[in-house]
Amino acid sequence: MLIVMDKDATGAQIKAVVAKIESLGYEAQPMPGGERVAIAILRNPGPVNETLFVDMPGVIQAIPVSRPYKLVSREMKREDTIIHLPGLDLGRGHFVVIAGPCAVESETQALIIAERVKAAGARIFRGGAYKPRTSPYSYQGLGKAGLKILRKVREETGLLVVTEAIDHDSLRMVAEYADIIQIGARNMQNFSLLRCAGRTRKPVLLKRGMYATLDEWFMAAEYIMSEGNNQVILCERGVRTIGEHARNLLDLATIPAVRRESHLPIIADPSHAAGRRDLVSSLARAAVAAGCDGLMIEVHHEPEKAMSDGAQSLYPDQFQDLMEQIKTLSPGGW
Ligand code: PEP
Ligand code: MN
Repeated sequence: MLIVMDKDATGAQIKAVVAKIESLGYEAQPMPGGERVAIAILRNPGPVNETLFVDMPGVIQAIPVSRPYKLVSREMKREDTIIHLPGLDLGRGHFVVIAGPCAVESETQALIIAERVKAAGARIFRGGAYKPRTSPYSYQGLGKAGLKILRKVREETGLLVVTEAIDHDSLRMVAEYADIIQIGARNMQNFSLLRCAGRTRKPVLLKRGMYATLDEWFMAAEYIMSEGNNQVILCERGVRTIGEHARNLLDLATIPAVRRESHLPIIADPSHAAGRRDLVSSLARAAVAAGCDGLMIEVHHEPEKAMSDGAQSLYPDQFQDLMEQIKTLSPGGW
């Protein structure tokens, strides 16, 4: 349930509502809104009796929330969430492109790619320092040295950086070095990691698990938000499919479906969906046309030598062409 306060409600009236919620054994979470304060009731095992609240001073409405994902749902918050990053907003009407290699391999590699994607219009640099690999014998990333390279990229180019946390130790480090913490497809239901990400004050880019339904994905976001971190960006990266022509199936229907059900921003990662470079730009254009709030694209200046995901990485020139193409597709440009 959502308790909506009058726009002139006093601090004492808001406190009284919070105290009432807590006295019932539930959790009260104030929701950031436009004009007025709204207070979400969480951890209630069954329906909440709205008559307990509607007559309290300062309360104008009690709205039942039917969805199991409360904080994520549009029932709870009607306005789109805009993620405020240093010098940059991401969300509805603020289209942002994230680009970079799958993995940070060296300072030279990262800086060369960062300069190229920046020149083409990307605002955020991606690159894994900790890589979740299917095989333990595959390249696992540079770890902390990779994070230091990302910091250097940030200083030298002014691009913000996003990188993946794969466990609790790396999460602590990533939260210190990066502007956005990525939780990858393989960890989408690592609930203790999600909770920890929720306790940081950094935006979290939450990829859809490779078998996850929309509800499961929303519940994963709810884990993060229920810890007090409202800055979640959803990223559609494709789900397992029967076809062999692409690595995964980019599920474009999630873009309008997320928009309908949730206030959170949704971006698309056509690179991990495609698995091969010749498909990436078409999928990216389709995702933009479907109304996503941003893209995440893998780019490498020497993909044939890349330590991971070279086959799906665009050459910088291809990325630049793509950026030109999507200008005309994105509502309001970017
Ligand atoms: C990545 O972004 O490099 C990555 C590993 O993605 P995903 O979790 O979508 O497979
Ligand atoms: Mn990758």
